[in-house]
Amino acid sequence: MPDKPDRNAIEVVNVSKIFGSGEGQVAALDTVSVSIRENEFFTLLGPSGCGKTTLLRLIAGFDFPTAGEILLYGQDIAPLPPFKRPVNTVFQSYALFPHMTVADNIGFGLEMLGKPRAEIKARVAEMLKLVKMEALAGRRTSQISGGQQQRVALARALAPQPKVLLLDEPLSALDYKLRKEMQIELKRLQHETGITFIFVTHDQEEALTMSDRIAVMSSGKILQVGSPWDIYDKPAERFVADFIGETNFLTAAISEMANGKARATLKSGATIEATVAQGFQPKPNATVVVRPEHAKLTKGKGELSGRVDNIVYFGTDTHIHVHLDSGELFTVRQQNTRSAGCGFEKGDAVGILIGSDAAQVLKD
Ligand code: ATP
Repeated sequence: MPDKPDRNAIEVVNVSKIFGSGEGQVAALDTVSVSIRENEFFTLLGPSGCGKTTLLRLIAGFDFPTAGEILLYGQDIAPLPPFKRPVNTVFQSYALFPHMTVADNIGFGLEMLGKPRAEIKARVAEMLKLVKMEALAGRRTSQISGGQQQRVALARALAPQPKVLLLDEPLSALDYKLRKEMQIELKRLQHETGITFIFVTHDQEEALTMSDRIAVMSSGKILQVGSPWDIYDKPAERFVADFIGETNFLTAAISEMANGKARATLKSGATIEATVAQGFQPKPNATVVVRPEHAKLTKGKGELSGRVDNIVYFGTDTHIHVHLDSGELFTVRQQNTRSAGCGFEKGDAVGILIGSDAAQVLKD
């Protein structure tokens, strides 16, 4: 990945957005602060209703914050109406004009800006090439596929060369295979244009595969901002660990902390080493997380023991759910090989080996 310049394109500073009044009041955003770097693929990730679209709409200028400010390259953009902001949006619905051709749709924003005809023509040709739609330039957008419409919507939004492109769940209408293709395409477009992308999704896998950094949101707040690796491997709290992929939560007593490591005594009585955040205080009932792929199932003894409850085959791997003797549930993910079967059956008595560096203590 090329080095990204360390300049902020967007700074959201203590932004709140309250809808309604009295009893029906909703804090769609609650004192949110985040900085998005220039040339970054930045994703807002969270469940439905957490405030992702609201934040995009405030950046676009379709709505105003109740409190706080939004800076674009250090300048407060509150006084600027949407069309004067160097920001463009790609909507989930694409919002193309069905009776117009692909080329006319792409040139529409430039026409509105009153650009000279020759400039529009050249820019439309450039955009058609960028999204690989030259062959369909003269086709009406009502006569092209969903994936092609998506490309046209992207080209139209990129044509005026915005500094920031906002993408509100742009791939959600596409089927799985096309969606995967467009994820790669979007990454390529961001890379080639160097435009800052702020991408909204509730799909954690999409966020992990596409983003330079991710902000995980819940109930109007940003819980954690970090690289996909940070978010997946070092979740700051329970919600993040749970929302990003499958995770095992174990209760443990934490003691003997040194150099970012602690001794975690599990309910089984076994002790494991776990990573711990700075400033964490030892306590008897902390939560330790272990990703399913960082544990190994054995027919012998492990740090945990139990019985296989269920086996789910996923093609590339198999998830084996174990009912632990402690009463807790634990999932182990095992990579599949070409030889048949995962080696275990429902009801088998098993041990679970937790690798060194696999466990992390949550701060809450
Ligand atoms: P989704 O993934 O479903 O689009 P989201 O994370 O984008 O969800 P928002 O659309 O930003 O969430 O909504 C955040 C909260 O604010 C929700 O509780 C929503 O009902 C509320 N909300 C959003 N817009 C309005 C509005 N115009 N009036 C009242 N409440 C609103």
